[in-house]
Amino acid sequence: MSALHDLTLAQQSQALATGQTTSVALTQHALDRIATCNGQLGAFLHVNTEGALADAAAADARRAAGQSRGPLDGVPIAHKDIFVTQGQPTTAASKMLKGYMSPFDATVVARLKAAGTVSIGKVNCDEFAMGGATENSAYGVARNPWMLAQIAGGSSGGSAVAVSGRLVSGATGSDTGGSIRQPAALTGITGIKPTYGRCSRFGMIAFASSLDQAGPMARTAEDCALLLQAMSGFDERDATSAQQPVPDFVGALTDMRVGATAEKPLQGLRVGVPKEFFGDGVSADVLTTNRAALAQLESLGATLVDISLPRTELSIPVYYIIAPAEASSNLSRFDGVKFGHRAAKYSDLNDMYRKTRAEGFGPEVKRRIMIGTYVLSHGYYDAYYLQAQKLRRMIADDFQTAFQVCDVIAGPVAPTVARPIGSSTDPVQEYLADIFTLPASLAGLPGMSVPCGFGEHGLPVGLQLIGNYWQEAQLLHTAHAFQQATDWHLRAPAALG
Ligand code: GLN
Repeated sequence: MSALHDLTLAQQSQALATGQTTSVALTQHALDRIATCNGQLGAFLHVNTEGALADAAAADARRAAGQSRGPLDGVPIAHKDIFVTQGQPTTAASKMLKGYMSPFDATVVARLKAAGTVSIGKVNCDEFAMGGATENSAYGVARNPWMLAQIAGGSSGGSAVAVSGRLVSGATGSDTGGSIRQPAALTGITGIKPTYGRCSRFGMIAFASSLDQAGPMARTAEDCALLLQAMSGFDERDATSAQQPVPDFVGALTDMRVGATAEKPLQGLRVGVPKEFFGDGVSADVLTTNRAALAQLESLGATLVDISLPRTELSIPVYYIIAPAEASSNLSRFDGVKFGHRAAKYSDLNDMYRKTRAEGFGPEVKRRIMIGTYVLSHGYYDAYYLQAQKLRRMIADDFQTAFQVCDVIAGPVAPTVARPIGSSTDPVQEYLADIFTLPASLAGLPGMSVPCGFGEHGLPVGLQLIGNYWQEAQLLHTAHAFQQATDWHLRAPAALG
């Protein structure tokens, strides 16, 4: 058996089932690796050493008693620090919530716990999930295991680093405008943002409530399917969680399509290729690797169809109006009264609010609160917010037009490979890099990032797959077929050993 950290989640699960390893051994190995590597990676903000070992021992005891809870029982995973966790601090990578202890678990965390996973700790992200590089964390940057001077993407950068650096085999992430897909792409792992409403948002600290969605990040589509299976489903505590049946995601990986064969598992699948995703502004290495991935899908039986998503560019201003508008409202709860930080010295209540928020929030969060407050203010609401809402609907309609001629849409996740840490000086430039992930977010559609090669400096590139509503199983099936025929997802960053 290879080193425990080289095993995928499914392989770890298998090794537990056959008695080749124990949950305590897996957990201790992960804790040791975190102790060795986290200093250079900046992935973990909190390591749940004692709690994880106790949960692992309990999982081993269940298994010995013939009461295993299923494939995830005893597997260590990490949670993005945007999910509240009982017994472990939750900060959303903000000074505002330094030391905050939640009295309850987020639904997604609770469901993964019920499935037997061992929560090994909380991982870094951009403050309140606002950003695309994990540089906006109040607790230091997360570094790309493929090249430590580069960003790991964001906002779920800690999750991406923990998985790609092989500290854990799976992690939770959240995606408002690309925060699962983009860091997955930049670190060479697999991640899926489900349809809006598939996973409960209860206990996931809100950024932009009409866009926020939880999802899994892991090395393979198979591992994502295993995690998503446990995370999904209606929750009465989230009014926007959907009463949608949860399909068998794991079973769907190997479902045979009509007319498919072992060599052509994607026979009959129509893959839409949006011309706007392959135009100017996408770097040559990303284009080349993505085109090769499309050819690979074709060789697996899929048919490529040219499509257009004409409002792709507009998704940037639309998102950067709607998301800050919702953020400005959501973040008003952090006023020093009930949650987290409160200024030490103040003269009256207003002064307490002002100082608390000035001290507690970082610059990007403040920028978004100001933009959001502006676009919602009297006199500007119609010009910005209302207009953005109308365009959001049109962006969603464009996808429905496209899905009349294709089943899945494929193209780049991000226009370039990971850039150097500290190299961005212009926030608007950062926002522009979200161009390919924002459209699916605005439409509420499921989107996935699948490793599809390496570009400049040997840095990973991702292929994005976008499906129609509730079609996660089809995305996972497509990604799984691709991963059975390629080995990009099996490559490990050399630097860490
Ligand atoms: N990069 C985008 C932003 O900064 C997306 C973040 C996210 O999905 N949480 O808003």
